[in-house]
Amino acid sequence: MRQDPFGSQGNRRQRRGGGLFGNIRWVVLLGFAIYGGCYYLGNRSVDPYTGEKVLIDSTLDACQEKALGLQAYQEILSQERPVDPNAQISQQVREIARRLIAKVDVVETALAQEHGLQPQHFARDFDWEVNVLQSDQANAFCLPGGKMAVYTGLIPVAQNSDALAVVMGHEIAHALLRHGAQRMAQQKLTQIGQMAGAASGMDAQQQQMMMSAMGYGYLLPYARSHETQADEVGLMLAAAACFNPEEAVPLWERMGQASGGQAPPEFSSTHPNPGTRIQNLGALMPKAMAYRQQFCSEERAVRQ
Ligand SMILES: [Zn+2]
Repeated sequence: MRQDPFGSQGNRRQRRGGGLFGNIRWVVLLGFAIYGGCYYLGNRSVDPYTGEKVLIDSTLDACQEKALGLQAYQEILSQERPVDPNAQISQQVREIARRLIAKVDVVETALAQEHGLQPQHFARDFDWEVNVLQSDQANAFCLPGGKMAVYTGLIPVAQNSDALAVVMGHEIAHALLRHGAQRMAQQKLTQIGQMAGAASGMDAQQQQMMMSAMGYGYLLPYARSHETQADEVGLMLAAAACFNPEEAVPLWERMGQASGGQAPPEFSSTHPNPGTRIQNLGALMPKAMAYRQQFCSEERAVRQ
């Protein structure tokens, strides 16, 4: 359930470094280590939704992120087959999105308070939009800046609007948590590592080994933690918007079946093992029900 608008293939440089002297190699590596360290330390911030320290390029503001998301969205829409916006399914999906988006502020504030933080309301500048795309895949996405899509293949797997809201809440959460921007920062660090490898005279095989070590040790678990975070924030959004969060568990069971039990082992997959995911969601259920109690009734009171 993740579409990477910025692509994940860094330009892999496999330059065979020649006979640099050993001490020069270390000076070069040290230089890159300091550069990488400064980039890392200079761009750390605390996410209000999770209370965790994250790496986001501080020069990337909401406006640029929105522009990148919009560009990717237009590219995707031009390649896919959007369903008529007046079709019943488009209207239903839009209504679910509207209810979820209406709860972004209160959920962010509540989660930030839990972590003793102030909400940033980064998403207030988003230009939300949702389209339904004709496709067999059971998938959905939300790009930085709030441009979303739901594939028609997801509808029979979701089966009901509560489960659809859980998936859409998860996708919205990726955008709220700025996971795209975090991945861009992470790719920049990876590039610094690659440049260091090439400049210090590592041969292609050594560079390859360094990159796979980074992949398994750093990049994949990072992606998995993004999935877990999006599950939690998305579930709270769905609950606050008066959907039934308990639909999350049977939903992910159906998703597991829909992928034909072909999910790779958790270690090498960017997605949490379905069993682990279901367990995590089960553990979040009391909190989700509390959010539903608190924020869903508020909405009813306002409507009366
Ligand atoms: Zn995801």
